[in-house]
Amino acid sequence: IAMNRRKFITNSLITSASLPFLAPVGLARSQRKKLGIALVGLGGYATKQLAPALSETHYCQLAGIVTGTKAKEAQWLSKYSIPKENVYNYGNFDAIADNDDIDIVYIVLPNAMHAEYTIRAAQAGKHVICEKPMAINVAECKAMIKACQESKVKLSIGYRLHFDPNHQKVMSLAKEQPYGPIKLVESEFAIKLGKPNQWRLDKKLAGGGAVYDIGVYCIQAARYATGEEPIAVAAREFKTDPVKFKDVDETVMFQMRFPSGAVSNSTTSYNARINRLHVSAGKTTYELQPAYSYRGVKGQAAKKPFDFVGVNQQAKQMDGFALNILNETESTISGEEGLRDMRVIEALYQSIDTDGAWIKIA
Ligand code: NDP
Repeated sequence: IAMNRRKFITNSLITSASLPFLAPVGLARSQRKKLGIALVGLGGYATKQLAPALSETHYCQLAGIVTGTKAKEAQWLSKYSIPKENVYNYGNFDAIADNDDIDIVYIVLPNAMHAEYTIRAAQAGKHVICEKPMAINVAECKAMIKACQESKVKLSIGYRLHFDPNHQKVMSLAKEQPYGPIKLVESEFAIKLGKPNQWRLDKKLAGGGAVYDIGVYCIQAARYATGEEPIAVAAREFKTDPVKFKDVDETVMFQMRFPSGAVSNSTTSYNARINRLHVSAGKTTYELQPAYSYRGVKGQAAKKPFDFVGVNQQAKQMDGFALNILNETESTISGEEGLRDMRVIEALYQSIDTDGAWIKIA
């Protein structure tokens, strides 16, 4: 089914799919059918960010939903024009294989469910976007990549900041190094986590605490702000509320060492507020603050503001993946990208368990 479906898309929608164009060519935008996305798990992020963003996308659209909550079905059907046949639950999810309206399955479930649903979606012949963190351990990430390869579908991770111009600027500064060598990156992301009865505080569903949820942004940012892969990490954990955070990490501070000698220093927490990416390069500094927000990211280099026009990160991210499919190009934000962060996360917890010892990243 997957192959036929993909051939159909290629033949009917674009003339020269193998050419590395940024946008599909051949038909005017209005004549092309958009790729259909099914959102799996209709929680906060799917409801408040992804579904609204799908009304701003050019190459994909909301075409289906997968939910375990009956009441949400009616709400979504009345709000969005989704055909009734494109509504699934976790039990009948695999039947999505027979639904040609759905090209991409977007996993927006608790972290510990990412691997299972990514693999099931791949086996159903669908391309997959999986939210961050990719899964809860390295073995799961590898299994997800393998399943997508075997089914010949593309996999992407929901790293929306790759589509924000401020973060793209930081990435290009790492490549070009116009100010001189990068020596130090400070990447910090902390939020005040609300209700005590949520899955984010349950290790079985979340994998861990602040590190998995938002520390992953600090790891990502340090990697693309240096343009290097870390070789070792050292971390310590602190709890100011051991009752609320009995099951998962609350506050973690960690350092990473990079091959050039550059170092990064990060704080992530569920019980504080900070949102910053700071780079020291040559004699100057540049910074994003707030850095990791959906909107309103602000940057400056050598005290001059970046002044980029704001974008809808999620719309750009989903369109980016749709174009990878339509143009048959490599996934811009691949499963390997999620796997690299997971390797750091595993080493980071090993360091916490050994009182902050330096742990090499495999
Ligand atoms: P929510 O708790 O708001 O939603 C999760 C949804 O998953 C639920 O509403 C439910 O949907 C479904 N679900 C299925 N089984 C369970 C279960 N056992 N416990 C709880 N929920 C379950 O979470 P978020 O939307 O905030 O996060 C979902 C994923 O998205 C996470 O992996 C998170 O890291 C990621 N995320 C990414 C963001 C980004 O900026 N890239 C921002 C926010 C989240 P239903 O009722 O339809 O079955």
